[in-house]
Amino acid sequence: MTPRGLLVVIAGPSGVGKGTVHGRVRAALPDSVLSVSVTTRPARPNEADGVDYHFVDRPRFEQMVADGELLEWAEYAGNLYGTPRRPAEAAVADGKVVVLDIEVQGALQVREQSTDALLVFLAPPSFAELERRLRTRGTEDDEAVDARLEVARRELAQRDLFDAVVVNDDLDRCVAEVLDAIAAARTVT
Ligand code: 5GP
Repeated sequence: MTPRGLLVVIAGPSGVGKGTVHGRVRAALPDSVLSVSVTTRPARPNEADGVDYHFVDRPRFEQMVADGELLEWAEYAGNLYGTPRRPAEAAVADGKVVVLDIEVQGALQVREQSTDALLVFLAPPSFAELERRLRTRGTEDDEAVDARLEVARRELAQRDLFDAVVVNDDLDRCVAEVLDAIAAARTVT
């Protein structure tokens, strides 16, 4: 049987290690594609337009929302983020696994929008560990880290709304658990 196409949301608080888990999951699944989000956040020095994000201004983002071009979207720490609908839906129809790196509000919208979705919540071993990771990675100043921690607290409270909760303490085990959940969801008819 050919496995079915699936939207896989791996969500969780900023600093939980989503990027690394996404990379490992994608590497393990040859028929997976990464959804490139649209955002109003300014690009970081190491980020490229069209690769890490499509960087747009607020009026353009709002036009995309009005035109129904986004599968889901959310405001996060003062910036807007959204998933372009067409590429994601086309890849799922083509039997691919589309991996979305999005925050929790958006994840829950994906569930409403699509029946072909698996929602995985990536949880930190503890809140203190999450704070340590965010403060030491140095991509945000103190104020931005505080804002992300505040969001993280709210996100953690919603973990039970997901299909699976995976704790990212041991990377190999965490990736294996996510891959198991994907395999199970793809074989359900
Ligand atoms: P960052 O600014 O660190 O790249 O991302 C901030 C947060 O926005 C992360 O939790 C990330 O997963 C989330 N995010 C990125 N793209 C999207 C998107 O398209 N939709 C939603 N809802 N969240 C997103």
